[in-house]
Amino acid sequence: MRLRTLHAEHLTPATRSSSNTRRATRVHPGAPIDLDVLDHIEAAAHEIVAQTYTAVPTAGPAPHEVEALYSWAEQATAHLPAERQQARDAMMLRQSLEHSLHAGDPGPVTAMVRYESCPTCRCWGLMWSRADWVVLCANRRCHDTVGLPTRWSLQEIAERHVARVAALQRQAT
Ligand SMILES: [Zn+2]
Repeated sequence: MRLRTLHAEHLTPATRSSSNTRRATRVHPGAPIDLDVLDHIEAAAHEIVAQTYTAVPTAGPAPHEVEALYSWAEQATAHLPAERQQARDAMMLRQSLEHSLHAGDPGPVTAMVRYESCPTCRCWGLMWSRADWVVLCANRRCHDTVGLPTRWSLQEIAERHVARVAALQRQAT
């Protein structure tokens, strides 16, 4: 599954022992890691844990390893209604895309954006704006009240993407 691969790619360097040693010192020499990426991974891990406990207060203790958090969160919320699980998946997808962006690779984001139509005008002109970290609609007739292109957050487009893929899967079964 691509999401997992992305997580593995971007999360592996952040693996650290349970000690409180400054994380940068845990990184293997010769594998320089952007501290911005590490900060993001830490924030993402906190978000996963917080969202999981909000959804399922009785979820067991969260694992210490960042990579294990995702399967822990999936298992803890697997009994929730489809909508709630989609919200979880959208958050994980957004995090995965953000990891790529922080690592300097906009590829996965632009790939997803290409597969989604504009929520407002339904055109296929959505674009990722590297400068503003938002998704913009390229249709000139699609703009906000002050004439700027309609824009969406990565989270909004990730939710749309997850919902569309889930609908396709329901049709296929
Ligand atoms: Zn539009």
